[in-house]
Amino acid sequence: MASCASTVAIVTGGASGIGRALCEALGREGATVVVADLDAAGARKVASAVGALGGTGFAAVVDVADRHAVEQLVSTTVATHGRLDYMFNNAGLSIWGEARDMDADDWQRVIDVNLWGVVAGTTSAYRAMLSQGSGHIVNTASIAGLVPSPLAVPYVTAKHAVVGLSLALRYEAAAHGIKVSVACPGLVRTPFYDTVRVLNARREDTLPLLPGPFVTPERAARAILRGVKRNRAVIAFPWLARSAWRIHRLQPALLRPTMRSAVERFRRISSSPHRGVMGVPEA
Ligand code: NAD
Repeated sequence: MASCASTVAIVTGGASGIGRALCEALGREGATVVVADLDAAGARKVASAVGALGGTGFAAVVDVADRHAVEQLVSTTVATHGRLDYMFNNAGLSIWGEARDMDADDWQRVIDVNLWGVVAGTTSAYRAMLSQGSGHIVNTASIAGLVPSPLAVPYVTAKHAVVGLSLALRYEAAAHGIKVSVACPGLVRTPFYDTVRVLNARREDTLPLLPGPFVTPERAARAILRGVKRNRAVIAFPWLARSAWRIHRLQPALLRPTMRSAVERFRRISSSPHRGVMGVPEA
């Protein structure tokens, strides 16, 4: 962004990975950044890094799955700093494995954080931004929100919903001077991959199945902020992720072998009680 000298931003999931890099990049531009995360120590560390980089950082402990806590985060930020220019609804997590091995609690946790967390952040920020007549809401979905990939079905469900929410709201918000963008990263090397829960397989065995290469969180933050500055509706990166999205729109059948192979390769390393069933549907 050109100048953040007087801008106020909230970044959920700001203690780690892409959120941390976004906070630091905003700090470098002199912004006031509220680093909101479940991880209190991590949020404090990033908030002080924001200060060291030239901005002003505040840490807030928030579970985005708690709607009231998110509403409070936004109202406290506006009351303290007078405005809210950027709301980065970035906190997220995933559970990997086959849908047949997931229970209702697995679905609930993924949807609560990745979808309801974004709904809470979006609606709270939208209300505050409507009163001030400006602002930009930036939701982090994923390339998995544009291209339905297997082995993280609840995550894909939530991320597709976040894309829909963001693009639909964008039309309504424009007339009020409010912008809405959705970031759709491909693979970004963050602690996400050290903490993701994998059902019926060892995490270290699943990582080689990912279609690399990874980009750094810093590069991801630069791509997102560049897209925000240009007011892009969808900020998809890097090129491999953008290509997958294009192929999915133009010739989805071309991705079928890759998706089938991902399922088959996962089943080879899986200890699922269902692992003998190897068929993957055609369409
Ligand atoms: P990360 O694990 O490094 O950081 C996620 C942060 O969110 C952590 O600090 C965690 O404490 C916080 N968080 C998790 N649940 C929370 C909750 N309920 N309330 C508040 N904070 C919570 O992950 P990341 O890779 O930086 O992911 C950031 C976002 O980017 C996520 O939405 C993720 O789905 C998305 N994404 C990541 C990748 C990738 O390759 N890393 C790719 C596409 C999309």
